[in-house]
Amino acid sequence: MKIAILSRDSKLYSTRRLVDAAHARGHQARVIDHQRCYMNIASHKPAVHYKGEKLIGFDAVIPRIGASVTFYGTAVLRQFEMTGVFPLNESVAISRSRDKLRSLQLLSRRGIGLPVTGFAHSPDDTEDLLKLAGGAPVVIKLIEGTQGVGVVLAETRQAAESVIEAFRGLKANFLVQEFIAEAGGADIRCFVIGGKVVASMKRQGKEGEFRSNLHRGGAAQLIKITPEERSTAVRSASIMGLNVAGVDMLRSNHGPVVMEVNSSPGLEGIEKATGKDIASMIVGFIEKNAVAGKTRTKGSG
Ligand code: ADP
Ligand code: MG
Repeated sequence: MKIAILSRDSKLYSTRRLVDAAHARGHQARVIDHQRCYMNIASHKPAVHYKGEKLIGFDAVIPRIGASVTFYGTAVLRQFEMTGVFPLNESVAISRSRDKLRSLQLLSRRGIGLPVTGFAHSPDDTEDLLKLAGGAPVVIKLIEGTQGVGVVLAETRQAAESVIEAFRGLKANFLVQEFIAEAGGADIRCFVIGGKVVASMKRQGKEGEFRSNLHRGGAAQLIKITPEERSTAVRSASIMGLNVAGVDMLRSNHGPVVMEVNSSPGLEGIEKATGKDIASMIVGFIEKNAVAGKTRTKGSG
């Protein structure tokens, strides 16, 4: 097979691992910087152009689109889909998962456990919004943040009001969420491929940090998950319409609660914590599923 990997940097760990895994399984792999792709969207024969060349002959495309370039990256991916190339994750599912409000609404509708979460537009409703989330301490997070940036723990009502005021001043959309203190600064990342949890790790934030993101100095270790956590992860990925997903949850007193579903989960943390060859499993999934023209949109909403 000929596999395109949409990534801005061929030196990134996940990108390199996917290229190596594809080669090891006897495929061709090519890293393409999606920000350098361009297209004639009105053409009867959709195509993707890249640095003066028309890209042809790909069987599958693996999107590794950074959060800051979701808009253009998903447009390029959509163009690949229009040409009949099998996407590991579909553009629609990626856009859906990148919006925390939309994702939580979809998960909630299907009965997935979530931290109590409020969202409001008007500053007049701040007090009630805080009450809705159970009162301070609360976690306030930007709708389109990633790697822990824009996720704030407000321990008092005054702190929460100040943060909300600041975010509003910046015209940023945010959520106000119940703080799951009992998680103890740790969360669980379940790596789902094709409806199965293939690996899971616990991430523990560094001393004094409630955010467990590895990019913020968190440490990862192998963990055994409960059947409830396993089914929550599998169902969440499926609701989002993602073939490959990193489902992040917290262990709360009322069972697992999902925080987010990542559509481009990093491979470094999970491969190092579990010793598993996740990249090879991803390529294996593509081998089974990359049938030309099979690009029906999955998921809901
Ligand atoms: P990002 O997309 O930036 O990673 P998350 O919503 O995943 O944002 O939050 C980052 C981290 O903050 C999580 O991994 C978790 O450790 C911690 N966290 C987020 N929300 C809560 C919450 N409601 N209660 C406790 N900890 C939280
Ligand atoms: Mg996260």
